[in-house]
Order: sequence, then structure tokens, then C-alpha cells
Amino acid sequence: MEYRTLGGTGLRVSLLGFGASPLGDVYGATDDAEVKRSIDLAIGRGVNFFDVSPYYGLTLAEERLGSFLLGKRQQIQLATKCGRYGLDQFDFSARRITASIDESLGRLRTDYLDLFQVHDVEFGDAQQIIHETIPAMRKIQEQGKARFIGITGYSLKNLCTIAEAAPVDTILSYCRYNPLIIDMDQSLTPLAQRKKIGLINASGLHMGLLTGRGAPSWHPAPTAVHEAGRKVAQICRAHGADLSQMALRFCLDHPYVASTLVGMSTVEQVEANLDLFKMKTDPNLLQEIRSAIGPAFNHVWPSGRPENYG
Ligand code: NAD
Repeated sequence: MEYRTLGGTGLRVSLLGFGASPLGDVYGATDDAEVKRSIDLAIGRGVNFFDVSPYYGLTLAEERLGSFLLGKRQQIQLATKCGRYGLDQFDFSARRITASIDESLGRLRTDYLDLFQVHDVEFGDAQQIIHETIPAMRKIQEQGKARFIGITGYSLKNLCTIAEAAPVDTILSYCRYNPLIIDMDQSLTPLAQRKKIGLINASGLHMGLLTGRGAPSWHPAPTAVHEAGRKVAQICRAHGADLSQMALRFCLDHPYVASTLVGMSTVEQVEANLDLFKMKTDPNLLQEIRSAIGPAFNHVWPSGRPENYG
């Protein structure tokens, strides 16, 4: 396993991070024993960064992760989130965030988090997040319940606005850096580098779109992006390359991102993703993929409040 320092936090995180949203059964039903084996295998092979949220499976993912990590908490860096509690349920108030950390600590069966993040900031009022949510999280940090704090979301514009105005230790961006899109590098990556903020890239498989199984029914991408995903799959097949491994290897090649989070729930997936450390990106394959994607490359869909789109 390779490790990088997460911005100015000093935390050493594995380049491949374990995304625990599948533990909320958001990509289909998962089996307890299989998930436990996947986590044990990942930790045994050096994966030390785990990310979850109360939103995933409406607390199910946190509950399950907490139980599967019993006895292993000290071997990992654990991140969860606050502020998002359902598809349309958001509360970024200081009162809710302060209650949220204790609820998450209970479910995760621990007395501290390594990273506490605001979940999907583009659904909130940026001024509230800057002046109320982040200060409340700093208080939580002072109490020793979280070592570091961060923000997560889809809108690069909104993540940049907040990170320019308020001190954050980390930023998690999703679906903005993988073979279908690289616009994270136009705005967010330079900002994170300049401010020494830890950068986490999530959904390198474009939330399941770059897998043999295909995207889940709730996937927000427009048809053109789904179509581009199918073209990429065809090209990989023709080259005898595994679609998901091609996509994730591309993400792991990023020079600044400290950890790429991949949603995993089976031993087979963990093994395939650990094999990435023995592989290299094929530049010719990447070139062919880029040409085939055409205008769907760097395609962004609206998410959150209209004033935060971008
Ligand atoms: P993803 O792009 O990682 O795709 C996950 C899907 O890919 C799952 O169905 C999984 O079973 C499958 N998969 C994983 N490895 C595979 C392989 N080798 N072959 C075939 N299929 C494979 O999407 P994600 O899980 O949404 O994102 C990763 C993690 O990032 C999440 O679990 C979460 O922790 C984090 N995340 C955070 C935010 C946020 O905070 N706003 C948003 C998105 C993701």
C-alpha cells in the first residue's frame, strides 16, 4: 500500500480509501459476513482510511461499520459526516451538528473521529456553513471528539467558496476526477495545494457508472454521461482491460489527491482494487477513451441549491 499525508493534518492515509456507502445498501443488498471479510482483508493489506456518513442507508452504514471495526479502530483513520440525513433532509445548524457527532460516535463505537466533515455543502446556505457550521465543528475538535474537520460535495464552485472563506483541513470532492471528468484540477486542486488542504477524491467509478454492473437507478447523470460510460466499457472490453480497474488506476495516478475513496463491500472488489498497485495506466487506451467520450467529457449536472451550482 502507498500512503500520503492528508494536506496539513499530518494524517497518513492509504492512497486507496475504503468508501463505506455500500454498507448502507445503497448499491444493493450486502452480506454482513462478506462485508466483514472485505474490511478485514482491506485493513490487513494496509487500507487505513475509512469514510462513512449517517446519510448512507440512514445510519445503517455507520452502525455496520462500527460493529465490523470492533478491535480494529486504532489501525485506521476514521471519517464520517454531518448535515445530511436523508435524500432531502439537511440541517447544518450548530445545534444539529453538535448532536450529530455524539450520535455518530455511538454508532461507530468510538470516542473520537479522525475526520468530521460537512456532508454535501451545496445543499446548504454557504454563509451558514462558513459562519455557523464550521465554527461549531472547530468547537467539537477542541473537545477532542474529532481530530480534523472538512467539507464534502459535488459543486466545485461551492467547495472553493467555502474553503476560501473558512478554515478547513480537508475537502472531499466526488465525481469530478475520473476518466469521464477532470475539472477538479481546474479549480479545487490548485486551491487545496495553495492552502495545504488535504484533498480526497471520491467516486472514481462515477458512483458505479464505470462498473460492469452499471449505474444504480438513482444515479443523477444525464443520458449522455451514461452513454459515454457504455462506450468506455466497450473500449476496455476490446482491449481486454477491466473497466473499473482502468478507471481507478487513473484516479490513483493523481499527483496531489491523498486518498481515492472507492465504495467496496465484497472480497472480490477489495482484491481487484488492491491489484491496482501492480498495474500501470495505458496511455494509448486512455487516449482512445478520451476521444470516444467526446462532448460528454467534463459533463456536470446540477446538484444542490441553484446559487451553488458549478
Ligand atoms: P464509487 O464510484 O466508488 O462506486 C461504487 C460502486 O462500485 C459500488 O457498487 C461497488 O460495489 C463498485 N465497485 C467497487 N470496486 C469495484 C471493482 N473493482 N469492480 C467492479 N465494481 C466495483 O462510488 P461511491 O461508493 O459512491 O464513492 C466512494 C466513496 O466515496 C463512498 O462510499 C463514500 O465514502 C465517498 N463519497 C462521499 C461523498 C460525499 O461526501 N458527498 C459523495 C460520494 C462518495
